[in-house]
Amino acid sequence: MSVYLDYNATAPLRAEARAAMLAVFDAPGNPSSVHEAGRRARAAIDDARRTLASALGAADGDVVFTAGGTEANNLGLLGLAKANDCTHFIVSAVEHSCIRVAAGTAGLPVETIAVTSDGMIDLEELQARLDTLPGDARPLLALMTANNETGVIQPVQQAANMVHEAGGFIHVDAVQAFGKMPVRLADMGADTLAVSAHKIGGPMGMGALALACGTKLAPTAFGGGQESGRRGGTENVPGIAGFAAATNTAMKDLDECERIAALRDHLQSRLLAVAPGAVVVGGNAPRLCNTLCLATPGFAADTQLMSMDLAGFAISSGSACSSGKVKASVVMLAMNLPGDLAANAVRISLGKNTRQDELDAFVAAWGEAYGRVCLKGSG
Ligand code: PLP
Repeated sequence: MSVYLDYNATAPLRAEARAAMLAVFDAPGNPSSVHEAGRRARAAIDDARRTLASALGAADGDVVFTAGGTEANNLGLLGLAKANDCTHFIVSAVEHSCIRVAAGTAGLPVETIAVTSDGMIDLEELQARLDTLPGDARPLLALMTANNETGVIQPVQQAANMVHEAGGFIHVDAVQAFGKMPVRLADMGADTLAVSAHKIGGPMGMGALALACGTKLAPTAFGGGQESGRRGGTENVPGIAGFAAATNTAMKDLDECERIAALRDHLQSRLLAVAPGAVVVGGNAPRLCNTLCLATPGFAADTQLMSMDLAGFAISSGSACSSGKVKASVVMLAMNLPGDLAANAVRISLGKNTRQDELDAFVAAWGEAYGRVCLKGSG
């Protein structure tokens, strides 16, 4: 048996996305060419842009296609900062590395705002930092909608109000939230917002940045003026078509969130019944419907990953991008989880195709490994 419980790392490709990409592969054309094939490719991009814009509540012209969530986050952060003469970056302590690392490359001061033990940004600390900036500062805050490891949902709109009040800007990383909860630019008060196709069943290496009306953005990739001069390079037409098809179905599937949350809660309570000492990381905060992050005393994450893999279950520890490194993640440490517990945290992330019998089989296999490692010799 092979059961995939790692949807936050990547979601299986949707049939609709695959079909849309194959159709484009079979009808090549450069969207910058004036002939019929080029115009067809251009029309596919225009259609896709309308789909993304409508899903994210942006104007059609305010969506820029990129090669993934990482590039969309880099472009939002660095492009906003450059075009608007920002003076400081402010990032939450649980941002993805593509935000934290990119912020360090611009030569501006980078301030990190702590999160509470529930994983939510400390808004009082944010306000205090904003208050200490010089009067002519133009801060740029980067805050994710929801965390990839814990699923904890951030109070983005409140943070946006605070930073706007201070004359600044906000870039929102909605890569994990998109497709798992409503993600609308205006509701969040975002100036720019990044999403990624492969997290919603579209192709890997495909993303988009949505901009609020009138937002100035400097490019980070220069070339032939594609994407209205905001991102140079021949567009990935199959990827863009696949992203749009995945978006269409993912938006319909938002109705499934309640059902998936019930499955996640079932899994959570069954695992806690097996290991009552385990800690649900972020369990007291609002969370994405599909995510469970569990830290179990005495049960190392790499042991869990390996024994679950052998039993046919795919789960992960830390974020997928940093897997291979078996050490406590930045997110766990930022939430002040004690070091030994932090290194035991695993993430189980569900999706549309997850069934309760699969979760029950997972609990049985996990319980067996837990008993072997943690209860050996007791009783
Ligand atoms: N932001 C978050 C919160 C993520 O979870 C990820 C991927 O894991 C990314 C950004 C990067 O997206 P991509 O894999 O499309 O580059």
